[in-house]
Amino acid sequence: MTATDDTETGNSLLIAATRRLAAAGVPDAARDARRLLSHAVGVEAGRLTLLLPETIEKTAQAAFNTLITRRAAREPVSQLIGRRAFYGRDFIVTADVLDPRPETEMLVEAALAQPFAHVLDLGTGSGCILLTLLAEMDASRGMGVDISAAALEVARANARQLDLSHRVRFEVSDWVAEVGGIFDLVVANPPYIASSEMAGLAPEVRDWEPRLALTDGSDGLDAYRQIFTSVGPNLIDDGRIIVEIGPSQAQAVSAIAQDAGFDVRALIKDLDGRDRVIVAQWSDIPF
Ligand code: GLN
Repeated sequence: MTATDDTETGNSLLIAATRRLAAAGVPDAARDARRLLSHAVGVEAGRLTLLLPETIEKTAQAAFNTLITRRAAREPVSQLIGRRAFYGRDFIVTADVLDPRPETEMLVEAALAQPFAHVLDLGTGSGCILLTLLAEMDASRGMGVDISAAALEVARANARQLDLSHRVRFEVSDWVAEVGGIFDLVVANPPYIASSEMAGLAPEVRDWEPRLALTDGSDGLDAYRQIFTSVGPNLIDDGRIIVEIGPSQAQAVSAIAQDAGFDVRALIKDLDGRDRVIVAQWSDIPF
């Protein structure tokens, strides 16, 4: 079969593409083929079925085949289509940012459980956490920092797209190093994968997502040590800090938080029942 053919219908393209993706070890080959075909022909996924019996025009066929070749090399769908839904909103995603993940919505839920006015997001990446919080909490304002200037470009584009630019500021900063303000809420989804775990990750994550956003190159706890030992002065008394953690890190991160003078208030599990989020509170009143 040639790469592009006058008689190729949506159905025949999908069948061939699903086979190629499955052979490349892509876990949900049929679903991904459909998502990429709807992207290539420019229709919403829900409307794709109507087009499947039709002949697909050659430029869309060629675009689709290129996407399938890239997906077979395990490039993530969100990087291929440039978007990912998070907490009901669409975010721009590139290879410079961590792909927003459903389990991170637990962190958003925990943050929204109490009102806040000024929120700081450490390692903001795409900005998905911070911008969701600002969109959900009327009149709140936020600052997002990241060590990656390229990531902040994506976060700024997301802020513009969500019409939140006037309520947010983004700065390059190594955790709180360049942060001057005082906040009532700090959130972070830091790199928490130990370097020893990197080899075992799915190729989509290991080979395509920014390494800086995934691992500290050490035991996976470095970011928490740095954040908890330095962020106190940026929090009001009784201010909250809410961090995402890896499923095996609850004890270690709680100990790091307590040693730095925080009270651990809650440990929240994700929908798969794994420890995922820690809520802690700052008290600068000794004893
Ligand atoms: N949750 C991500 C993963 O398991 C890791 C993101 C992070 O380190 N913050 O791939």
